[in-house]
Amino acid sequence: MDVIRSATTISRVELAELTGLTQPSISNIVRDLIADGVIHETGSADSIRGKPRKLLAINAANRFGIGFQVGAESLTCVAIDLTGGVVGREVVPLTTADLPAQLAERFDDFTDGLDLPRDRVEGLAIVAPTARPGHESAAPEWGVVRADLADHLKIPVLVENDAAAAALGEFWTRRVSREQSFGSVYLSTGIGAGLVFGGALFRGASFDAGELGHSSIRYDGRPCPCGNQGCVERYASMAATVDEARADPALTSRLRLDGTVSSAYDAIARAAVRGDADAFALVDRAAGYLSVAVTSMVNLLDLGRLVLTGPGVAVAGSIYARRLRAHLARTAHARRRHEIVVELSAQPRDAASIGAAALVVQASIAPGHTLGVH
Ligand SMILES: [Zn+2]
Repeated sequence: MDVIRSATTISRVELAELTGLTQPSISNIVRDLIADGVIHETGSADSIRGKPRKLLAINAANRFGIGFQVGAESLTCVAIDLTGGVVGREVVPLTTADLPAQLAERFDDFTDGLDLPRDRVEGLAIVAPTARPGHESAAPEWGVVRADLADHLKIPVLVENDAAAAALGEFWTRRVSREQSFGSVYLSTGIGAGLVFGGALFRGASFDAGELGHSSIRYDGRPCPCGNQGCVERYASMAATVDEARADPALTSRLRLDGTVSSAYDAIARAAVRGDADAFALVDRAAGYLSVAVTSMVNLLDLGRLVLTGPGVAVAGSIYARRLRAHLARTAHARRRHEIVVELSAQPRDAASIGAAALVVQASIAPGHTLGVH
């Protein structure tokens, strides 16, 4: 399934070549998948000799995954099909009252509103900055939320960190091949990264992999609540950029920087792309700090492809991408051996919720790749 997903369309012969399975095995697997309705035959490709090869493709609308991103005051709901196409999205207010009950009600309303048959919905994944499959004691108690919801909705419910989910979502919707060493950087109020190796999210020993924000770029730098000093999050996150802007009288006089970190950050980012020299310098400097940390990650893991995503790149993403590409071109260790592709997310604000839904879809059709899922 994962090979068909990344290829878009593929013949049985190519499947056998790419997976190393025998032709009879492929024929059996393909027959079962067609009977299940998850793939179908679509046209033919000319063969050099003999009869034309029938091509196989994923039946996008056969099954769906639902992703919920829990924010401070709102909930983003997304539904995707088997190829990662978004079939529904809505943002609704969230209160602090009984979270499992609110989420259950939203799930029913959202899937009913989209007219998705319940037996085609493969599950729900919930993402939040503090959520991790292995850290279920942190407030809110995600383990309790997950168990309550699974019990009530009678479907699999997963819980995941936003940056990790976003990486899987970008991997899935971009049809990245599982042969690639793929990473994404999630720029938000904090900074996270997600890594996909061999088609699977890399989790580490305790689901803590990808804590890029706490990579130190200066040993005697700004103190960080994590205990370290000089963490890149203290220089390049949305919150750090807003703090710096609020300390600058010239910027505070021109831009609306009161309100939430998100709204203040968007005001800075908009000014930066509009050509405000001070705002541009501020964002470009943050991009420079981020580039130093990301280059270390690229070097450590020998990544070939990287996506910048998250709300922090929704407005001024090109400033971050340009700075990072220039830094990698000059300093990445593997730059003479292979290209390091830096891309910008097409849906940076929804990347985590789309990724959550992609986790559900991957657990459903390529379960061997989904590690650490309950
Ligand atoms: Zn830190």
